Amino acid sequence: MDNYLDAGSQCSLDIMAEEYLGNWVFTQDGLVPGCLRSREGVAEEFLLGDPPPESTRSIVLPAFVNAHTHLGDSFAYPAPKGSVEEMVGPDGYKHRVLASATDEEKRSGMRSSLDLMWRTGTTSFIDFREEGLQGISCLRDATIDSNVGGVVLGRPEGSSCTDDDLRALIGQCDGLAFSSISDWPPDLLETASRMCKGSDKMFALHASESRREDIEAILHLEPDFLVHMTAASEDDIAACVDRRVPIVVCPRSNKAFGLSPDIPMLLKLGASVALGTDNAMICGPDMISEMRAAYHLSASVGGLSEFDAVRLATCSGHKVLNPKRKITMELSTSDDLVVVDVQGEDPLLELVSSDGSVEVSAVIQDGMVRRVRV
Ligand SMILES: [Zn+2]
Repeated sequence: MDNYLDAGSQCSLDIMAEEYLGNWVFTQDGLVPGCLRSREGVAEEFLLGDPPPESTRSIVLPAFVNAHTHLGDSFAYPAPKGSVEEMVGPDGYKHRVLASATDEEKRSGMRSSLDLMWRTGTTSFIDFREEGLQGISCLRDATIDSNVGGVVLGRPEGSSCTDDDLRALIGQCDGLAFSSISDWPPDLLETASRMCKGSDKMFALHASESRREDIEAILHLEPDFLVHMTAASEDDIAACVDRRVPIVVCPRSNKAFGLSPDIPMLLKLGASVALGTDNAMICGPDMISEMRAAYHLSASVGGLSEFDAVRLATCSGHKVLNPKRKITMELSTSDDLVVVDVQGEDPLLELVSSDGSVEVSAVIQDGMVRRVRV
């Protein structure tokens, strides 16, 4: 496998008089014929119906949202194989390499990950950032010149932290996120959750990844969302549905640990499901690859429609990102959008299932059409 950290890219704003982007538009009714008209690099309107002949052979869809990352360990890609505990547990490989790397090594790895996100059509992400205040500032520094926006959820450096330490962390980021309830004292998690709620910030957790954890103890903390739930029972999922707690699944990361989310079951039970790429030392933060993994692994457990696969990687992530905003699938030229070039006769199937034939050609952000070139 190529090392994604080595790939370079350029982004530029092309000013062309008038342009028609796409032969198809991804809407709440599925993929429909249409295009996005732009003038001098500014997205002006969607035109539904048969596109003009000069329109590009592409799909226009909402930009991807990566609902779970750990960009801090990008520099350690590719990581060796190991179990969840050996690799990402409290004393595992990841924490050892984080402790031995310099901030500049970490920032450089994060910048490569941000670059990969941009080239593959992701404009926003939610990161679980380890290493306390220093970890938060390191990620903030790395994102300064990036068009990709991150929700940064911090974590104390150890369980001996004080309330003042938690308050200081929350003041510097968008909320707190913890490894799992099993790794932290219950009273610390309760205090952290209460402080996040009081500051209108996010509180999130990994949950039931390789072994089932007590869902009532988890939901008692009122998390904004949970990550993994691969070892959860159907009753556990139903409890999340009852409390309206979204679940973020990470198929490629799970696969590296011999695990697998049952996405059709989650959807059948009514869960709100989004996709994330998890530890960047294990998988590059490329949401097209993640969406394809979700689509393929679901085939053996009931299947996932092409429409749902795209929805999980786009609109569902927006719901996790903006829990208080009503998210619709009606596209607007002011939304973050992505233009993906396709080749075959079944563009949606090609997008979610084929191996490498699609290419992101442009990202629309703040109404501006920005070219993406590898
Ligand atoms: Zn994670």
